Amino acid sequence: MNVQSRIEADTPQKTEHVDVLIVGAGISGVGAAYHLTTQCPGTSFTILEAQDHFGGTWWTHRYPGIRSDSDLYTFGYRFKPWVGAPIATAAEILKYMGEVIDENNLAKHIRYHHRILSADWSNADNLWTIIAERSDTGERLRFTTNFFWMCQGYYRHTEGYTPEWPEMAAFKGTIVHPQKWPENLDYKGKKVIVIGSGATAATLVPNIADDCAHVTMLQRSPTYFRAGRNAIEIADELRRLQVDESWIHEIVRRKILYEQDAFTRKTFNDPEGAKQDLMAGVIAYLGPDYDIKTHFTPRYRPWRQRIAFIPDGDLFKGIAAGKASVVTDEIERFTETGILLKSGKTLEADIIVTATGFNLLPTGDIAFSLDGKPLDFADTVTYRGMMFTGVPNLVWVFGYFRASWTLRVDLVADFVCAMLNHMKEIGAHKVTPALRAEDKDMPLLDWIDPENFNPGYMMRGMHLLPKRGDKPEWQHNQDYWAEKDEFPKIDLKDAAFVYG
Ligand SMILES: Cc1cc2nc3c(=O)[nH]c(=O)nc-3n(C[C@H](O)[C@H](O)[C@H](O)COP(=O)(O)OP(=O)(O)OC[C@H]3O[C@@H](n4cnc5c(N)ncnc54)[C@H](O)[C@@H]3O)c2cc1C
Repeated sequence: MNVQSRIEADTPQKTEHVDVLIVGAGISGVGAAYHLTTQCPGTSFTILEAQDHFGGTWWTHRYPGIRSDSDLYTFGYRFKPWVGAPIATAAEILKYMGEVIDENNLAKHIRYHHRILSADWSNADNLWTIIAERSDTGERLRFTTNFFWMCQGYYRHTEGYTPEWPEMAAFKGTIVHPQKWPENLDYKGKKVIVIGSGATAATLVPNIADDCAHVTMLQRSPTYFRAGRNAIEIADELRRLQVDESWIHEIVRRKILYEQDAFTRKTFNDPEGAKQDLMAGVIAYLGPDYDIKTHFTPRYRPWRQRIAFIPDGDLFKGIAAGKASVVTDEIERFTETGILLKSGKTLEADIIVTATGFNLLPTGDIAFSLDGKPLDFADTVTYRGMMFTGVPNLVWVFGYFRASWTLRVDLVADFVCAMLNHMKEIGAHKVTPALRAEDKDMPLLDWIDPENFNPGYMMRGMHLLPKRGDKPEWQHNQDYWAEKDEFPKIDLKDAAFVYG
C-alpha cells in the first residue's frame, strides 16, 4: 500500500465538493480567491490553509524587523492600491491582505488548520480527491474538486534550512533559525552571530544591533544589496496633489517596473556597470575606508541571486556605527563559546542565528497521484511554470525572483480564470498539458538554468522540480516583462492543451 492509499484508507468517506480548491492563504491563495470571485462569478471554491491565519510567509516569519525586500507597489496586487512606504513590515503586509479578504468577503472561503496530505486525480470521474488533516483536532476530511490551484509557495513552512557544521552540539549558547524565532528570545546585551548574508540576515542585523552587545554577520561570500531611501518621491508628490490612490498605484508600478526592467537588462548587457551601480550605494553609506572589496564585492554577476533592498541603508549604518560587523570567512567548527573559522580566528557568541535559507518544497508536502499511481513532478515538463504535462486540471503559482512574486499571481490568475471560462464554454471537464508534435525533440532541462539564477535553495532542490524545455511555452522564464504581454495572448485552443 503506497502513502496515498494509506491516507485514503484512514479517512472517512463523507465528501465535500467544490469547483476549485486552493492550497494556501498566502499572497498567492488570497489573490487566486479574489480573481475567481471577480472573473468566474458563481464558481464554488475553498482555500485550505495549514496554519491558523492567512499571510503565508508573512505569518510564518516572526524575527525582529521582518519586512519585504521588494516594494509593495508591485508586491501588492494590481487591484488594490498600496498607500504606504515601499518596503513594508510583515504586520503591514498582513493588514493589507486582511483588507483584501474583508473587502471581498473572502473569509468565509478560508479554512484554517487544514493541512492537505494527499491529492489523487481520477480519470473516470475527472475529479481530484483531496485529503486534509486538521492540525487542531486531528480530524481527516475528504474533498473533491474539479480544479486544483496550488498556492502553497516554494518552501517548507514548518522548518528552515540549517547546514550541519562540525560540533554544533558543543555550543553552550542558543542556536536559532529565523523561521522559528522564539517569541521570548532575550538578546539584550548578548553577543550574537548571524550566519548568512541574504535578505533575512540583512534585516535582522540592524534590527537587533541596538539591543545586543554586538552582532556579527558571518558570511562565506558577499551578497549584492541595493540601498536607498524607503520612499518613492513621485508617490509622495502625487499624494500631495491629492491624486486618486488607484492612479498613484498604477503610475508608481509602471515607474518601478520600467526601472527594474532597465536594471535587469543592464545586469546581462553590462554586468560590470550594474555591479558598480550597486556598489556605489554601499560605499555611500560605509565610506571609502571600509573594506568593501572583502565584505561587499560579490563574485557573481548581479541578479544571479535575489538582490535585497536595504531601506535607508540601515544595515550599513549599523556597521558604520560599530554596532554590527561583517566577517567573511568559512566555519571550521562550532566551539563551546562560539565559532572557530577556517582562518584560525574565533568568534564568541551567546546566540547563533542560522539565516541560511529554506528547504525547497515545490508541492507543499502533498502526496500526489494519478488514478492511484504516485506522481513525481520531476518526471513532468512545465507549461510556462504553472501547469505540468500529464497532470490534469492543476495550476501552480510560482512567482518571480527578479520582480515581485505577486505580479505573477495576478497573471496566472487571469490565465486560470480564462481557462475555466473556456472549459465551461466548450463543455470540457479536463485540460491536460501535453508536448506537441513539434516539441518531440525538444531538449529537457532543469527547471532553471543556474547561469541565470542560482540561490542555494534552488540548487539543493532542483531534482524535485519539473523539467523545462527550450521554448517559452515550456519554461518559467522569470521574465515578467515578456510574460505580461505573452500571457493574455495564450491560445487556449493550442495543441499543448488537451481537453476531455
Ligand atoms: C522573509 C521573506 C521575505 C520575502 N520577501 C519578498 C519580497 O519582498 N518580495 C517578493 O516578491 N518575494 C518575497 N519573498 C518570497 C515570498 O515567499 C513570496 O513572495 C510570497 O510571499 C509567496 O507567497 P505564496 O502565497 O505563494 O506562498 P507562501 O507565502 O509560502 O504561503 C503558502 C501558504 O500555503 C500553506 N501551505 C503549504 N502547504 C500546504 C498544505 N499541504 N496544506 C495546506 N496549506 C499549505 C502554508 O502554510 C502557507 O500559509 C520573501 C520570502 C521570505 C521568506
